[in-house]
Amino acid sequence: MRPKPKKSLGQNFLVDKNIQEKIIQSGNLKKSDVVLEIGPGRGELTSFLLEKVKKVIAVEIDSSLCAILRDKFSGYQNFELINQDILKFDIRDFIKNDKKLKVIANLPYYISTPIITHLFEHREVIKEMYLTLQKELASRLTTGPGSKEYGSISCFIQFYSDAQILFPIKNTSFWPAPKVDSCFLKLKILSKPKVRVSDEQLFFKLIRCAFNQRRKSLKNSLGSLLPEPLLKDCLKSAKLKPNLRAEDLSLADFARLANRVNQY
Ligand code: SAM
Repeated sequence: MRPKPKKSLGQNFLVDKNIQEKIIQSGNLKKSDVVLEIGPGRGELTSFLLEKVKKVIAVEIDSSLCAILRDKFSGYQNFELINQDILKFDIRDFIKNDKKLKVIANLPYYISTPIITHLFEHREVIKEMYLTLQKELASRLTTGPGSKEYGSISCFIQFYSDAQILFPIKNTSFWPAPKVDSCFLKLKILSKPKVRVSDEQLFFKLIRCAFNQRRKSLKNSLGSLLPEPLLKDCLKSAKLKPNLRAEDLSLADFARLANRVNQY
């Protein structure tokens, strides 16, 4: 019997077989891969994964789905199921000596951003992520300067990874169908961040501060971070006009500015 989807856990199951296959093909899976699947649900993608890779570590919060999955995949030696909230799962600690993971997930919408942040906090044990996300969030993660969707999360993601939308997914591919469409996204973790910064904490603090008041010019939005004469000086030496706004700046621009600020 099909268990009733729990809305509170973001259970919109991917039922479109063509999309399931497209996802599996896009993951460029190898026999030597170790895959972390977040929210395996009823195990539809998991079935494909188990045939293709060395090991699938599946983290599912819903105990009733875990019971089904345990039963369904009892014959597979390469299946490891963890009944836990992914946000409380220490990926780094768990995989220890294993090689770097590929993450594959159709993420529950209600906590997609915290899960992505959690994954990036464990990025040293991850090589690639393949994620199904709400279309709007996928655009925010992949867009650059000049766009209204460009924000601190775009900078954070693109600092550590190459982010690319692979294909759109219609809401009707899911059961029950959510109100919004989705996208399938690839995030390839970089061996070193895209731009050089002397103090990452300061770099992200400055980005957040600039985007918190995104309609204001930098000379105003960054006013709480630095005294005005100093800010003016840093903007000038980073070759940035004080009337620019956060959304005008590329990662390299933010890096130049943060590195100047860090010199004072
Ligand atoms: N992978 C399945 C599919 O594609 O049909 C299910 C995807 S469904 C959008 C999201 C899944 O994540 C559900 O199985 C849900 O129970 C699970 N989930 C929700 N919150 C979670 C959490 N904090 N940690 C782990 N799994 C979670």
